[in-house]
Formats: sequence, C-alpha cells, structure tokens
Amino acid sequence: MADSAPDLTSNLPLRPFIDGKPVDGTSGRTSPLVFPGNEQEIGRLSECSAADVDAAVRAARRELEPGSAWSKMGPNDRQRILYRIAEALRSRADEVARLETLNTGKPLAEAKFVDVGEAINVFEYFAGWATKVTGETLPDRPGAFLYTRREPVGVVGAITPWNFPLDLAVWKVAPAIAAGCCIVLKPASLTPFSILKVAEIALECGLPPGVFSVVPGSGSVAGAALITHPGVDKVAFTGSTEIGKWVAKECAEHVKRCTLELGGKSPNVVLADADLDAAARGATVGIFYNKGEVCAAGSRLLVEDSVHDAFMEKLLARTAKMVPQDPFHPKSRLGPVVSKGQMESVLGYVEKGKAEGAKLVAGGTRAKVREDGKGYYVNPTVFDEVDNDRHSIAREEIFGPVLSVIRVKDEADAVAVGNRTMYGLAAAVWTRDIKKGLRVAHGLKGGTVWINSYNMYDPALPFGGYKASGWGRELGSVAMDAYTEVKSVWVDLA
Ligand code: NAP
Repeated sequence: MADSAPDLTSNLPLRPFIDGKPVDGTSGRTSPLVFPGNEQEIGRLSECSAADVDAAVRAARRELEPGSAWSKMGPNDRQRILYRIAEALRSRADEVARLETLNTGKPLAEAKFVDVGEAINVFEYFAGWATKVTGETLPDRPGAFLYTRREPVGVVGAITPWNFPLDLAVWKVAPAIAAGCCIVLKPASLTPFSILKVAEIALECGLPPGVFSVVPGSGSVAGAALITHPGVDKVAFTGSTEIGKWVAKECAEHVKRCTLELGGKSPNVVLADADLDAAARGATVGIFYNKGEVCAAGSRLLVEDSVHDAFMEKLLARTAKMVPQDPFHPKSRLGPVVSKGQMESVLGYVEKGKAEGAKLVAGGTRAKVREDGKGYYVNPTVFDEVDNDRHSIAREEIFGPVLSVIRVKDEADAVAVGNRTMYGLAAAVWTRDIKKGLRVAHGLKGGTVWINSYNMYDPALPFGGYKASGWGRELGSVAMDAYTEVKSVWVDLA
C-alpha cells in the first residue's frame, strides 16, 4: 500500500520553544523522530540541556515579578487569552491533528475530533475559571477582619507522556494559565510536536513570552533538570508509576507541591444482566481505543461466569472487525503503536501470557498493513481464562491492545477481584440494574468509574488515581486548587 501521508516532513516544530521563541537546544544533541506508521525518520529534534531548562525557568520567574507583562494582566486578560487559544486551535485543528498523528500513530480523525477537540474544551473550561477563583471572607471576630486569597502557586514544571501528548499537556497548561502561574513543560521525547505548536499559538494569542515554555529532551536530562530546579514551585507529572515514585522523592526533598497521574490496570466489569452487545462494544472501546495506550484502559475484563460464553462470542466478533490501518487513512480506527520498543514490549507480554498459561483467543501478532511490512502495527489481542493473581498480563500495565478476560462468580467477587491490583485509576461496570451499578461503582477503588460506558471524559469531571495510580486530580474545579496557594490574611481592627 502506498503512503497515504505523503507530506510527512514539512512544517514540523523540531526546536525547543523558550521565552517566546524557537531556539536550538544547547545540548548539541538531536534525536530522531519516527512516524510509527511506516518507520520513516521524519525529522530530528533538538534536545534541551539543563542550561536550557534553567533559561526557561528564569524567564518564567521573571514573568511572576511585579512589573512584568504577565503580572500586569488580570483574570479577564487570562480568560480572554485562553478563549483565543481555544479558538485558534479550532481553526487550526487539521494542522495540530496531523502533528499528533505523525508522532503517535493515532488515527487522524481521532486526533482531530477527540484529542484536539478535547484540548479546545479544556482551554474553554479553564478560561471560565480564570475569573472565578476567589478567596473567602471569614466569620466576624471581635477586633479583627479575616479573609483568604488564592494566589498562583508560582512556576509549574510539567512532564508528560507520549500517549495523549496534546491533551495531557493541556490539562496542566490551561489551569496553570487560568490561575496566573507560569509553566515550563517537558514533553515525552517521542511526541513533542503538538504542544510545541500550541506554545507558538499561545504566544500569537497574546500570552507574554516566558509564561509558557516547552523544553523537549530526554527524561534523565531535561526532565530531571526541571524537577530538581529550585525555581520550580510545583511539579505536575504524568507518566509511569516507576518514574512517578522518583519524581515524588525529589519533590519531597525540596518540599515542592506535586501532582502525579500514573499507571493503571483498570477493571471493566460485565455483570450477567448487562446489555451484552453494548458491553462488548464498551469492552473493545475500553482496550483498543488509542491502541490500548491509555492509562485508564479497561485491560482487565471481569465477566460474570453465567454469561461468559455468550459474551465472548460477541466480543470476539467485534474484535475481528478491528483491523489495524494506516492512521492517515480516513477510515482508520486502529493505528500502529507508538514505537518499535513499545511494539516489542507488547508482543513480549503476549509471549509471557501464553507461557504462563492464559488462553490466546485473538491476535497476538504483529499486523502486516503495508506491502513492505513496515509500521509498528499489532493485531488486537484477547486472552481468555486469565488468572487475576497469577498471570503477569493481569497484574502489569501493558499499555497496548491486549485484553485479559477474567471470570468472576458474582457482583461481590467482581468488586473483590477488581480491587486486587496495586493500581486504582479507573473502572467500569455494565448492568441494567442501576442499584447494582452504583454498588459496584462505589465498591471499586478507582478515581473514575463509568457505568454502562467507557473512556468518557469531561473537562469538569476530575481525573486521577487511587493507590499507585497517583496523587491529586486534574480537570474540574479541584484542578484550580493544585495551581493556587491559599493565603490567610488577619487584619487587626482593634
Ligand atoms: P514514562 O517513561 O514515565 O515517561 C513520562 C515522562 O517522564 C516522559 O516525558 C519522560 O521523558 C519523562 N521522564 C523519564 N525519566 C525521567 C526522569 N528521570 N526525570 C524526569 N522525567 C523523566 O512514561 P511513558 O512511557 O512516557 O508513558 C506511559 C505511562 O504513563 C504509563 O504508565 C501510563 O499509564 C502513564 N500515563 C498515566 C496517565 C494518567 O493520567 N494517570 C495518562 C497517560 C499515561 P522521555 O520521554 O524522554 O523518557
């Protein structure tokens, strides 16, 4: 099959964006960026050194000083800028979506309508908050007047992963700007394009230089320099639990504020009274959407014993229809996984699943999408008869299109098995009985629980994890707490 994406290399943002302009990283290093749909190198990214991170943080600190362009802007100015960014993204959705697909391999239509669409919604949502962050006037006290004010937390150091490079960055950038903070963001090395473009767009929309810089580079150099920088007041990290633990230790050392959005192994529960067609659709959306590279993916499917066989028939029929395709093809719904390393890791888990005794009933192989066999495509994979406690594929986050089906006896067993994991990011339950649905939703330890749906997000609905899935929440009104400090003021009136 010929490339359906002929224009792979033009207009790519390949340089750090610091203090309002694209610059070359002073590390002198560049790293190759590869389109996962055909393995072609499309450009080389200029990487930041610790000195570049320092320059970005200094510019951010400057903007927090009295007299700076940013400090002269009030809530209405911030709101206006955020709305302008949303509007600019709306009119440039094709351009930004193309960049997202080039880096991640996600289908272009999804990149445009889901990823860019969500980013627009999030900018608009937090635009509203810019003018609504208030303190309190406290009850009268003889001889004193007491009140609180909310002040920006300061300079935010943000680090993001490669699965939703645009949205997970915007979840941090939008509330930070709304609160009056400055933000320096290090994107994942594999996927810097979309947020570099947004930084450029934000400047055009009136955000003063230095308020929002993007410092691409390796995690161990640029990422570590950002987290440990004394000029960073708060760290917002999304990534693996392993790196998240290290980030938490570093933040503890310097008593920095810190929010962590980490991994997951989310249970998707199908009870016997569910609409099995809807549940089968929800199960495939839960695990195959974005090739399973979703922190909240429903990677453990807990099916009540009595409907197991009937349900599996429907699930496998749906899975057979999910054929990987070039992400630039207009009908593509399943693209390649993000990189060679990730493909090898996913296929390694398939081998482990087989070796440990789970029953492979669909996929499990690399898919040939192109004549030349190139591209990191993996067939959607389903294992049946998985043991929740014994099999690695049920315990470890695979972050790919691999589903583990686990039998459960009843509702209570579903909650017990669902909670037997170190993670607690998300969960779902399929049932026609709302009482059962609510009982299961309340019993499962996860930051988000869907009833009769999966992978649905709203800017007003907080997102984050229990247990090893993280600290704190993004989105919703609570996100504003993460980007502000409360100051208590006592005024003596005596
Ligand atoms: P990762 O390896 O932890 O990397 C995440 C980010 O941290 C990248 O930008 C990475 O840079 C950077 N990094 C790596 N080492 C670092 C260090 N020593 N200091 C500072 N930064 C460092 O995770 P990933 O493989 O990109 O993403 C997949 C993981 O993210 C999964 O576990 C997934 O569940 C999780 N995730 C969670 C959520 C959520 O909201 N809870 C959402 C999406 C993803 P490099 O790219 O240069 O390595």
